[in-house]
Amino acid sequence: MTLHTIEWHTIPVNRTEEREWPRMNANYKMFVGGNWVEADGGKRFDSDNPFTGRSWASIPHGTTADVDAAVAAAKSALTTGDWPAMSASQRGALLRKLGDLIVEEADRLAEIETRDNGKLLNETSLQIRYTAQFYYYYGGMADKIEGAVIPVEKPNIHNYTRLEPIGVVAVITPWNSPLLIAAGKIGAALAAGCTVVVKPSEFTSASTLALAELFERAGFPKGVLNVISGFGHEIGDYFVGHPDVGCVAFTGGTSTGQRINEVAAKTFKKTVLELGGKSPNIIFEDADLDNAILGAVSGIFAASGQSCVAGSRLLVQRSIHDQVVERLVDFAKSIKLGDPMAPDTHMGPIATRPQYERVLSYFDIARSDGAECVVGGTPLDGDGQFVQPTIYTGVKNDMRIAQEEIFGPLLSIIPFDDDDHALSIANDTLYGLASGVWTQNMQRAFRFSHALQAGQVWVNMYRAASYMTPLGGYKRSGLGSENGKDHVYDYLHKKAVWMNYGEDAPQPFVQKL
Ligand code: NAD
Repeated sequence: MTLHTIEWHTIPVNRTEEREWPRMNANYKMFVGGNWVEADGGKRFDSDNPFTGRSWASIPHGTTADVDAAVAAAKSALTTGDWPAMSASQRGALLRKLGDLIVEEADRLAEIETRDNGKLLNETSLQIRYTAQFYYYYGGMADKIEGAVIPVEKPNIHNYTRLEPIGVVAVITPWNSPLLIAAGKIGAALAAGCTVVVKPSEFTSASTLALAELFERAGFPKGVLNVISGFGHEIGDYFVGHPDVGCVAFTGGTSTGQRINEVAAKTFKKTVLELGGKSPNIIFEDADLDNAILGAVSGIFAASGQSCVAGSRLLVQRSIHDQVVERLVDFAKSIKLGDPMAPDTHMGPIATRPQYERVLSYFDIARSDGAECVVGGTPLDGDGQFVQPTIYTGVKNDMRIAQEEIFGPLLSIIPFDDDDHALSIANDTLYGLASGVWTQNMQRAFRFSHALQAGQVWVNMYRAASYMTPLGGYKRSGLGSENGKDHVYDYLHKKAVWMNYGEDAPQPFVQKL
């Protein structure tokens, strides 16, 4: 098979006129202590729509004084007022009510996210509805958090544990799926009885500010949920290092996660970090190829590749390599770029200008690495932030395009000879977030599921997630995991209580062992 670099400079980008993007009330405020407030000093910044390239919302430019106010409100709500007095069942009921309101408002919230990050409305509509499930799930868990009675070997001692809220939780989220990514963290933290301050990405603050309105409508006591907006590089360190923050739950880039962990360590804060990835998606020669091709496409071109779990390294058994490449190239050429609101668009724009420029820079990097581009690989004409689906072959795993997270629709295809070879390439990365295996061989499916160093393994599927299933990364893809039952315990202190109901006098100089 001969592969040619496709000359493909002009994809018909399906632009909708702005008049089809009705104006929304786009003057957002922060939500602090149950009040809708401007930033201290009154500054604001614009939020741009990556499809139209124009500002569509105005966001308060939060400062360290706003961090102080939000953390103070959350600290006060933690120990005074209605929240600590509520039963766990009542907290759960509030979370479920919030879930109902999210379903009611899903279309509006989805449109806000699409305006902010250019993700397909088809996907944001589903994601926001699904977000409600996180609040139902953690609402159900609120009254199932139990300590234990420990049968200590000492006479006349009643020894038990209590699980107590860890404190004010700082939730920091990225731009690719703001409400979905916040949901597990907020849901679990509130189920645990904590209070929360959320800071969404400066590129996509609007949906989280709009979500706060639903907390108000659901009847959460003031200060339980606070949302501040602002720039990570300005207020991030201050927020993470704040002495009254008890735990930081973060999703974002690996270098930001590293910084957060360093700052948090100074005040001994717990962190839960969901970070970047460079995930291997492995197709064996015995795979159902039709499904594997779809899985490869969803792994790298869905959400324009702006997915932490993107299967950006496609490992293909050499015997089927050319066939897989040919089919993927054909598929890539059929992908329709355009208006993320339009139901027939496959890929929207890249969410932010800096990210768009970063993704484009990898065209040159791939060229100088010596990879062969078989489709895409050049900037598109026009002023939109669109990147065409791009596939490289002849990729070696030590090339930069195979080692660095690009967060765009650039696929590296790497051939392998046998199982051991595939596994060594798959695990040869600093990351370990996700992985995919396409095979009909059950023994191989299990062997790879256990040997892959990644927090998620999908066999004969890709890019699935559930509020019930832990999501975490190996190596530099994260610390701890979120979602699922255990995530609630990230937001709880475990306290041991010793009660003496005997008559014996304490030994003053010898520990009671
Ligand atoms: P980012 O790290 O640039 O920003 C994420 C958030 O951190 C933003 O709210 C930002 O304002 C804030 N921030 C920046 N500097 C900070 C600091 N010093 N202290 C505290 N907060 C700070 O990430 P991004 O560009 O918004 O998102 C893309 C990255 O997120 C990718 O690397 C992607 O893989 C990762 N991601 C991971 C997952 C996952 O579940 N593992 C999911 C989605 C995205």
